[in-house]
Amino acid sequence: NLALRVPITLPNGTTYDQPTGLFINNEFVYPKQKKTFEVISPSTEEEITHVYEAREEDVEAAVNAADAAFNSDWSTGEPAKRIRVLLNLADLIEEHADTLAHIESLDNGKSLFCSRGDVALAAAYIRSCAGWADKISGSLPETGSTHFNYIRREPIGVCGQIIPWNFPLLMFSWKIGPALATGNTVILKTAESTPLSALYVAQLAKQAGIPAGVLNVVSGFGKIAGEAIAIHPRIKKIAFTGSTATGRHIMKAAAESNLKKVTLELGGKSPNIVFNDCDVAKTVQNLIVGIFYNTGEVCCAGSRIYIQEEIYDTVIENLTRAVADLKIGDPFKEDTFMGAQASSAQLDKILKYIEIGKKEGATLVSGGEREGNKGYFVKPTIFGDVKEDMKIVKEEIFGPVVTVSKFKTVDEVINLANDSEYGLAAGVHTEDINKAIQVANSIKSGTVWVNTYNDFHQMVPFGGYGQSGIGREMGAEALDNYTQVKAVRVGL
Ligand code: NAD
Repeated sequence: NLALRVPITLPNGTTYDQPTGLFINNEFVYPKQKKTFEVISPSTEEEITHVYEAREEDVEAAVNAADAAFNSDWSTGEPAKRIRVLLNLADLIEEHADTLAHIESLDNGKSLFCSRGDVALAAAYIRSCAGWADKISGSLPETGSTHFNYIRREPIGVCGQIIPWNFPLLMFSWKIGPALATGNTVILKTAESTPLSALYVAQLAKQAGIPAGVLNVVSGFGKIAGEAIAIHPRIKKIAFTGSTATGRHIMKAAAESNLKKVTLELGGKSPNIVFNDCDVAKTVQNLIVGIFYNTGEVCCAGSRIYIQEEIYDTVIENLTRAVADLKIGDPFKEDTFMGAQASSAQLDKILKYIEIGKKEGATLVSGGEREGNKGYFVKPTIFGDVKEDMKIVKEEIFGPVVTVSKFKTVDEVINLANDSEYGLAAGVHTEDINKAIQVANSIKSGTVWVNTYNDFHQMVPFGGYGQSGIGREMGAEALDNYTQVKAVRVGL
């Protein structure tokens, strides 16, 4: 029998207690069937620990807890309580930042440099959500002296949240922050390959004073626990981040069960456009952050680079030189930029796409293979002279692989950028502000970064056009996902 807490020694030599159970009703508990599954370190391929697996009956127990907690003053009482809990949680995440960053790098394989950024943004976002809790207001539409109308924004109820493995802690915060600030209760399922940081933060939430049942966190598989959440009739809303295929499935399950409200944050194949009047040095850094940050496992990665023909050779030359200097390897070294891919499945998928790119006849400019033979590392890979109909240009690879091609005119590149079923993000690099705004306004995506990339702020909404999703996270817009409008019209 696996204990509900196991000691884990981190590569920096410190040992901490990792919860392994399901966090239901403010306690770590065993699932009914007491099944566990293995958690692997992607940088060493070694087992870190096992954790307990939630199945249908455990999801039921979590929904019971969340349902009871929703029918309490958490959802109807003074927002001050929610503010205090979320502020405490943000402080605790910061207090535990170093441990959390190490857990994230151990579990996901990403570099400490990336993990530290995730932890800081997670704390900042939860703090920002605390600030919203008492600023949710309705309105008083004026319709003449015969009636009085008031519009309330009320919480929805029990929210199911399913997150992926590329930003385990950050996605956890993007999901729970607005749901809890608006008075909902939550059952969140982590991705099966990265359950550790969310369990750790669940215990911090208890310490922060969260009432029992308000936040429930379960580890488990998509087809069992995930499916049970998607079809559950007492879950009133589902928020999902992950692949477009699974998002489509979840939407169908939500429709067929109880028409629960759905928000989806899905895949992308985002264009990163370089005009000949850009600042080349700055742009090259943005192209690198765009595709190689977090080992390319970023839904909005700038995976299609378009360079205006006059500066194509210059940018490629500078980019290749800068990529050669990127440090790949041990995620725990302070100067490592790229750690390991998150799983062996992801490694295989990326290597398969690299082979497809070679067969399709794209020019391999750099990388193109696995780095070493222990740990799931891939060299940063650039394919030049690609054709628009190649699979590597059309499909999401979700790894450190980028395609590069030339364009001549503004209109041409807008058409190329928009020629995708996705619409999550785009980058525009130019020193001409008029051109930047013209292009930004013409691109069909939820985010456009100008002279920057993968650049997030808790007050700036993020989400997709097209098949990249439904709804927005962060910013004031995130609150819309977790409140419903009630109109009261009083005849006088
Ligand atoms: P996935 O979308 O299947 O998994 C994401 C989450 O959904 C996990 O928590 C998983 O357990 C859950 N899930 C899976 N099937 C489910 C179901 N039937 N019902 C409910 N929940 C379910 O992604 P994956 O299989 O881990 O990765 C496949 C590909 O998805 C990746 O290679 C990548 O291209 C893409 N992806 C995108 C994102 C993103 O942020 N857009 C994140 C992760 C993966």
